[in-house]
Amino acid sequence: MARILITSALPYINGIKHLGNLVGSQLPADLYARYMRARGHEVMFICATDEHGTPAEIAAQKAGKPVAEYCAEMHAVQADLAAGFRLSFDHFGRSSSPQNHALTQHLAGRLNAAGLVSEVSEKQVYSNADGRFLPDRYIEGTCPNCGYDRARGDQCENCTKQLDPTDLIDPRSAISGSTDLEVRETKHLFLRQREMRDQLRDWIKSKKDWPILTTSIALKWLDDGDGLQDRGITRDLDWGIPVRDGDKDWPGMEGKVFYVWFDAPIEYIAATAEWAEAQGKGDEAWQRWWRTDKGADDVRYVEFMGKDNVPFHTLSFPATMIGANFDGTEPWKMVDYIKSFNYLNYDGGQFSTSQGRGVFMDQALSILPADYWRWWLLSHAPESSDSEFTWENFQASVNKDLADVLGNLVSRVTKFCRSKFGEQLPEGGTYGPREEKLIADLSARLKAFETQMEAMEVRKSAAELRGFWVLGNEYLQEAAPWSTFKTDPEAAAAQVRLALNLIRVYAVVSQPFIPDASRAIMEALGCDDWSWPADMGAALAALPAGHAFTTPEVLFAKISDEQREDWQNRFAGTRA
Ligand SMILES: [Zn+2]
Repeated sequence: MARILITSALPYINGIKHLGNLVGSQLPADLYARYMRARGHEVMFICATDEHGTPAEIAAQKAGKPVAEYCAEMHAVQADLAAGFRLSFDHFGRSSSPQNHALTQHLAGRLNAAGLVSEVSEKQVYSNADGRFLPDRYIEGTCPNCGYDRARGDQCENCTKQLDPTDLIDPRSAISGSTDLEVRETKHLFLRQREMRDQLRDWIKSKKDWPILTTSIALKWLDDGDGLQDRGITRDLDWGIPVRDGDKDWPGMEGKVFYVWFDAPIEYIAATAEWAEAQGKGDEAWQRWWRTDKGADDVRYVEFMGKDNVPFHTLSFPATMIGANFDGTEPWKMVDYIKSFNYLNYDGGQFSTSQGRGVFMDQALSILPADYWRWWLLSHAPESSDSEFTWENFQASVNKDLADVLGNLVSRVTKFCRSKFGEQLPEGGTYGPREEKLIADLSARLKAFETQMEAMEVRKSAAELRGFWVLGNEYLQEAAPWSTFKTDPEAAAAQVRLALNLIRVYAVVSQPFIPDASRAIMEALGCDDWSWPADMGAALAALPAGHAFTTPEVLFAKISDEQREDWQNRFAGTRA
């Protein structure tokens, strides 16, 4: 039994996520967590909402709520949707938790003790009307290059020129529209990442099993141009983790908070501490996952994320972890493998949260159960390239794979057995060469599935699973117990007994992809034996003759053309 720590990139708090976000980290992470648990490994699967930063403050302002209240509400909404999609987190935490406050302050103190934090004076735009400093992208004005009148302080999206806020003509606050702005001097802390380039390079180069894409993105950021830059880790905001040097005040940093990019990944660890507290366990319970001197040296740590998050997780977060262990007394568990995803597009364009384009998690669950979405999204995961959601493809995939292949098999076998033998596994008959061949084919296919799952090849795993289902259908087609029954009822009984056992095996193996359908199958079979079919012959004899079952309802309803057209129209525009 191995110990596997799995984190999914943290969804930001300011709204409901779309299906592209879901398949970009949380859903494949859940697939992997479920599979590893099913194989008997000890799994810790962590996610959380990322709650700090200006976008959260602005979303709260728009909603007319204090930011803490807004974040608490949106966390509950996101947690509900995660549960609706059956995301099996051991803990779904909050980056605003007391645990993350304490740990972020502690790690900043360690970095300071290591000499890795510098203080830098900056000039920044302050809005008198808003009573706050404005991040560059919350200052708007006219572009000095092209005259576009809604250029942002960091970049003009019309001509793409990189800008400084002070370049803008007639600058105004993007929050209030106020032009009562002034440039003020303010002090910030910077993490001296440049100092750590050699250590980071050595660490990245030690990762021989990482995809070249991941390593090359990291090395590019490390070495291209002027190389990795020091990075500001504080902000002049109210909402966030107050800047402290461990448990001491940080002179000159009063009223400032840590920048969201600094505290968000630390929440992976803090959320595990939240889990421990929720379980009534002590610190050693989370430390055995995160501290290699306290039991985590045999943990395999896998991170799931969108490709845009890779530089951050290969450089900035590791810089914090490596730096905090400057004197060898705090060896933190570092990531072993990063699984990153490209983008899912929507019907000829992009999913967009800001424009409300695409299907959002709440909308998806309002029209179909989670398994339908899980199956499509995972079997079309954007791994080696971007992929595209179309309603036609969704309909075809659900109808073919789920309804025609798996659902139909379950329905035919249980109904046939009920009509000829009653609702129990029939007695009599023995397996012949056809059954032996099926067992061998299933064993080989399952091995292939396991190999792809271990490698986190999500689409290939789905294809192997589909192939595993197809073997059952082909067997049933050839064996044709409904014909056999007329001439040799004993042989038909053996075939049906095998097929009913195969349905149980399908429930066990398919559970990481379609947990609800698997549970429904198991309940119908009156069985709660989820053990992995390591020995296929034995697994196909697990349910004995005489074992009672109930004929299940339709597992997967087909999507009609009318439904498809209706949804296509309903989700063609933007969300209100
Ligand atoms: Zn411009």
